[in-house]
Amino acid sequence: MAENLIAIFDEVVARNPGETEFHQAAREVLESLGPVVAKHPEYASAEVVRRLCEPERQIIFRVPWTDDQGRVQLNRGFRVEFNSALGPYKGGLRFHPSVYLGIVKFLGFEQIFKNALTGLPIGGAKGGSDFDPKGKSDAEVMRFCQSFMTELYRYIGEYTDVPAGDIGVGGREIGYLFGHFKRITNRYESGVLTGKGLTWGGSQVRTEATGYGTVFFVAEMLAITGESFEGKRVVVSGSGNVAIYAIEKAQQLGGLVVACSDSNGYVFDEAGIDLDLLKEIKENRGRVSDYAQRRGSGVRHVKDGSIWDVPCDIALPCATQNELNGNDARHLAAAGCSIVAEGANMPSTPEAIEVMRGAGIRFAPGKAANAGGVATSALEMQQNASRDSWSFDHTESRLGEIMRSIHNRCLETAESYGQPNDYVAGANISGFTKVADAMLAMGLI
Ligand code: NDP
Repeated sequence: MAENLIAIFDEVVARNPGETEFHQAAREVLESLGPVVAKHPEYASAEVVRRLCEPERQIIFRVPWTDDQGRVQLNRGFRVEFNSALGPYKGGLRFHPSVYLGIVKFLGFEQIFKNALTGLPIGGAKGGSDFDPKGKSDAEVMRFCQSFMTELYRYIGEYTDVPAGDIGVGGREIGYLFGHFKRITNRYESGVLTGKGLTWGGSQVRTEATGYGTVFFVAEMLAITGESFEGKRVVVSGSGNVAIYAIEKAQQLGGLVVACSDSNGYVFDEAGIDLDLLKEIKENRGRVSDYAQRRGSGVRHVKDGSIWDVPCDIALPCATQNELNGNDARHLAAAGCSIVAEGANMPSTPEAIEVMRGAGIRFAPGKAANAGGVATSALEMQQNASRDSWSFDHTESRLGEIMRSIHNRCLETAESYGQPNDYVAGANISGFTKVADAMLAMGLI
């Protein structure tokens, strides 16, 4: 890391003690920015990097709700509005017991650069709660969402901040959140949330967008060497929204997806994942172990072990942060894996990225490879603003164009800064310069 950036990184660590995921995300970006600040002294004199590392606003609130037994339960809600230089704050809400300020900040920080890369007018934010939707009834999830929105509504709006889903927040939760926002504000403000249902302001392809987008990105990487998904063995971690639609598109393009997972283990299915069965199980909130049981012989459920032990050509981590470590990367390399693309946010540890670099595995970071989700959210906002709704094919082709242009922008930027084929440098530098230039133009904000 360049010397002047080390001082900024040390300040980030000191100002945000204990927030290790945020430190990791900040380090990864700052490590790429040496050549940029050397070339553009104006960024240093205006302290753009320091300002970028400090969220514009951080909101933490109490979320009380009652469970089905009438007992009072308590959770903590967060919204970190990180940067609005390019547009209203935009980023998902995560409901998971592991959520604390450091996770929300890492996600919000990543979101700034990801959103800039899409080329669409959206700033960066993230939010969520340590609430665990797993095992809760629909009525409990509704009461929680209503209580969460009772505070959050003050800070969001079509022109201010537009949340969406993430881990633990899907169509059901967005429905409850939107319904309560509408009720307490007396406004049918479609553009206040994305990921809405198709009959009430949602966009075609939003559900599929992150997973499809990741696979479109990989298809671009493959095309460079004259290859395609046809006949490639693919491993996808997770079995949630991103994973399911990554599996779907990889299969449509001719890939053989042989494994997927949840937090209790992975399934290995040599014949290829039966996606209809997996979707049916997940719609009923089942586990991948149920998949192994229902699918029968030939399928193994491995409880303790790493999904990255399964040999593949292409690995798509689509579950959660730091799920692919240095050892996993070594196993992937030894088994001949040639591409790792992140459907999840920051699923690879810094050591894993080092190992992949050394082994010649082509690596696409989440802020580029999974940007299709937020890009399609921005398309949902466009449709809401014009009271329009586009067809599936039209929206999917817009998504495909956006992923192609993100891919090309990463490569061109990396090349122009003397780091050819480095998608990490390309994504970080390209996202950063766009936001930094807007911040400079707007004066001291
Ligand atoms: P979901 O809640 O739909 O699914 C998450 C999946 O990951 C589940 O299968 C879950 O298993 C699994 N998982 C969670 N934690 C772990 C763990 N510690 N070990 C193994 N598996 C785990 O979330 P999404 O699919 O929406 O999000 C997945 C990732 O993609 C996240 O990193 C998210 O930030 C990122 N992302 C999502 C976008 C979106 O549009 N939804 C956009 C861009 C990025 P289990 O059920 O056991 O918890």
